[in-house]
Amino acid sequence: MHAQSWSGGCNCSKLRYTLKAEPMVVHCCHCTQCQRMTGSGFVINGVIETSNVEIKTGSLKAFNLPSETGRKLIVYRCAECGTDIHTDYGGRETMIFVRMTTLDDPTRFGPDVHIFTRSKLPWISLPPQVPAYEAFYPTFEEVWTSEALQRRRALGF
Ligand SMILES: [Zn+2]
Ligand SMILES: [Zn+2]
Repeated sequence: MHAQSWSGGCNCSKLRYTLKAEPMVVHCCHCTQCQRMTGSGFVINGVIETSNVEIKTGSLKAFNLPSETGRKLIVYRCAECGTDIHTDYGGRETMIFVRMTTLDDPTRFGPDVHIFTRSKLPWISLPPQVPAYEAFYPTFEEVWTSEALQRRRALGF
């Protein structure tokens, strides 16, 4: 489908990975959990099949975090330096959320949607042309392209 790939890694450079496909959708998440996890204003997550993320060097360490919804939340960090690389929301294993700003080109995949804007920091302004939701969006059809929905269905979700 796409011959192109995109590389990224952690702060100590021991962990290197490649995305073998574009993310299905890119979330900019302003929830309090993402803010606390990073000590920052928001997180940019590319939703992608786990099979399309190839770890080239280094290793990941899994951290189980409590989540407000009670669903599983596993954060995978560089085992050496602790940089967040991706997250598994719900313990689905085959679909993960990669931190887009760990890519060598962090500008490559910008947000398709802003979510949990109810806790967005007041001094951050959002562009009017990108959809934004107070919490999570009500239906996937509203945000995901039909190609992305097909990829999601192929995973059984
Ligand atoms: Zn590292
Ligand atoms: Zn979040």
